[in-house]
Amino acid sequence: MAGCGGDSKKVPGIDLANFDTAVAPSEDFYEYVTGGWQKANPLKPEFSRYGSFDVLRENNEVRIRDLFAEMEKTQASVGSIEQKIGDLYRLGLDSVRLNNEKLTPVAGDLAAISAAEGRTGIGTLLATIHRTMANPFFAPFVDADMMASDMNMVYLYQAGISMGNRDYYLDAENEAIREAYRAYIAKIFGMAGYGDPAAAVAAVMEIETKIAEASLSTVELRDPYKSYNKTTVEALKADYPAVDWDAYLGVLGLAGLTEINVSHPAVMKVMNDIVAGDRAKLDYYLAFNILDSAASALDDDIFMASFEFYGKTMSGQQEPRPRWKRALGIPNRSLGEAVGEMYVAKYFPPESKERMLKLVGDLQTALGQHIDALEWMSEETKAKAHEKLDVFIVKIGYPDKWKDYSTLAIDPAISYWENIKRASGWLSDDQMAKAGKPVDKTEWGMSPQTVNAYFNPTTNEICFPAAILQPPFFNPDADDAVNYGAIGVVIGHEMTHGFDDQGRQFDKDGNLNDWWTEADAEAFNKRADVLVAQYDAIEVLPEMDVTQPDGTTVRQPALHANGRFSLGENIADQGGLRVAYTAMKMAAGGVEPAPIDGFTADQRFYLAYAALWAQNIRNEEIARLTKIDEHSLGKWRVDGAVRNLDTFFKAFDITSGAMYLPPEQRVVIW
Ligand SMILES: [Zn+2]
Repeated sequence: MAGCGGDSKKVPGIDLANFDTAVAPSEDFYEYVTGGWQKANPLKPEFSRYGSFDVLRENNEVRIRDLFAEMEKTQASVGSIEQKIGDLYRLGLDSVRLNNEKLTPVAGDLAAISAAEGRTGIGTLLATIHRTMANPFFAPFVDADMMASDMNMVYLYQAGISMGNRDYYLDAENEAIREAYRAYIAKIFGMAGYGDPAAAVAAVMEIETKIAEASLSTVELRDPYKSYNKTTVEALKADYPAVDWDAYLGVLGLAGLTEINVSHPAVMKVMNDIVAGDRAKLDYYLAFNILDSAASALDDDIFMASFEFYGKTMSGQQEPRPRWKRALGIPNRSLGEAVGEMYVAKYFPPESKERMLKLVGDLQTALGQHIDALEWMSEETKAKAHEKLDVFIVKIGYPDKWKDYSTLAIDPAISYWENIKRASGWLSDDQMAKAGKPVDKTEWGMSPQTVNAYFNPTTNEICFPAAILQPPFFNPDADDAVNYGAIGVVIGHEMTHGFDDQGRQFDKDGNLNDWWTEADAEAFNKRADVLVAQYDAIEVLPEMDVTQPDGTTVRQPALHANGRFSLGENIADQGGLRVAYTAMKMAAGGVEPAPIDGFTADQRFYLAYAALWAQNIRNEEIARLTKIDEHSLGKWRVDGAVRNLDTFFKAFDITSGAMYLPPEQRVVIW
């Protein structure tokens, strides 16, 4: 089969140079497979984490840049897709203009805050900011009603804390980060010409801390029932009267809406109290949301202030990403499917789709066999699990119909920020227009040029965009063992999400609806709890001295993985590995392939999986991701997952060592 899009160089299935053979597979399988890769790929200053995933993402950025460069060669007519993408990209590259304009592009937005009067003014202002700029207090979006999944509904979801996780505001050990955050807030208010940055800092910290206290934790957010609170717009008006909701909904194009999901009432209560309270504090908070959000679209000074905090302090990045990568990200997101249409025409061979469909079918059969073989599940629940598995919607490569961006106008005569607001407003309108309408199950939740995959519980769909169908995930030149260990596990992973701690609560029609017998749910939870305890015991950072912003050092306790937060991903990693292994065996039809480079097919399956997660990562990023990312860190996606699998130990003949778990301590779920 042909390689992707004319790349003539062949990528080896498994590159032995990436190993560290000084480490035994029985001691640390991840280090054994990836230690050489880690040494050969030291972190560049612009990265807080860099792994084989990121190599693919970087190559992908170059591909998209090439597409844009090709577009430049022809004169684009005004209003064409090429003009919109091209102008948006060039505006982001134009550092001279951005530095000349300084903060003037946001002056009108900031002035609108103090000009807003009364409940109606605030309702209009809040909706305008939500539609085009940022998400103070909460974020409105449209998605399927979790209990009537054929219909779309408006959700108001907790948001409005710019550090992104409540722990940063509430936990004692994050004081150094809060200190840096206060300095950042003061700095950007100073740049915007505010006379009393200290008052702004106090107001922003007070409001965001209150929101953090009222917010659900990441673990609580895994329970979909905790975010389901369908109510009427009449009740919304009665419960949170400080805002004129008719004005608010009108700006979002939702006039006449009758039902709404107020996901997190406690946060809405904080919002209502603050809007009804000290106006000066509210104004500072809204101004901060705008400045913080616009920082990456304005001059270099404010951009660097933002980078120093979010990039350096929070993630450990030493330098920002180059301007072209940042600029490319804007049209790539705001006109995602238009870029995607060009991307697949150039880079996605149709054969890839056929081969993927076959693989997905094999994985589906294998997961069905696993369900049948479960000792802990009753026949009654098994039958329901089969029904759900059989009706998975499978999306591969790119959507059958593309979004039409003809009503979005991009105009180089106005500022970069103004154009970004237009694009955001367009996307918001496009989404809000679906409220109260039937769900269109042909729509895609990711653009084709995204290096990722997803499962969506309310549509019961698994999706594999074109960009993930490349090495090291999908390698037409590699042997079956490598492809089952890489893309096969990814497919199995997404399927297993339909049956993880969260996904299992949705039925075959995508409704939040308990289809399990009580005993089966209990048996599932018992197994899941063992997995939670295993990951909770993982030390992701040892106890160590950490230098504070003032130069002093403090002793930080060891940091552990959060087994409950990462449970769904860990179940999916394990399920993906188990199901893909079964599918590989089925495809081999009882014939044992000859070893390659001295490794059996079983060994190559696990080696290919581990190689996907090769990475280097900074300590700051380890700490941040452990809070905000439900995926386990690369090392633990390997070592944490394989040590429950009999076939792994057998493949490498492991009977002792740090990787080894005695059979009675292993747990398998699917
Ligand atoms: Zn996942």
